[in-house]
Amino acid sequence: MLLDIDNTIKPYGANKIDQPYIEWIDHVKSLGIEVILCSNNYPKNVRPIAEQVNCKFVAFCLKPSSFGYFRAYLKSKAKRKNILVIGDQFFTDILGGKFMQLKTFLVDPISAESEGKTVVLRRKLTAVFTNAIKERENPYRKEE
Ligand SMILES: [Mg+2]
Repeated sequence: MLLDIDNTIKPYGANKIDQPYIEWIDHVKSLGIEVILCSNNYPKNVRPIAEQVNCKFVAFCLKPSSFGYFRAYLKSKAKRKNILVIGDQFFTDILGGKFMQLKTFLVDPISAESEGKTVVLRRKLTAVFTNAIKERENPYRKEE
């Protein structure tokens, strides 16, 4: 499982992960699933976060390119078809996963505060699609 950090497992700008997210990551790991944190941030910022949850990490991912996800894939023991990417931004986390034909899961951001203007714009663009999906009765079933 390749997991984004900012606004996926901790608020943007926070320097630690809150306990419920730590417990969730521990639970996922207890199921035998390897968790690798993938962030566009610098190693000096990502390392302390990864140490909190005792996970491998890939910093400076350059999402939405697949550069970081490919490095994470090389670090993992997983087959590509078994890799899931989880993140809060369509135009970076999810698109990067799609470029590498990985399974992806878009989550709601933890907090919308202190986000830059480009992030806000990208979220508005993403909402055009996600709102249409949410309006379906079952978001996972395609309309006939
Ligand atoms: Mg994020």
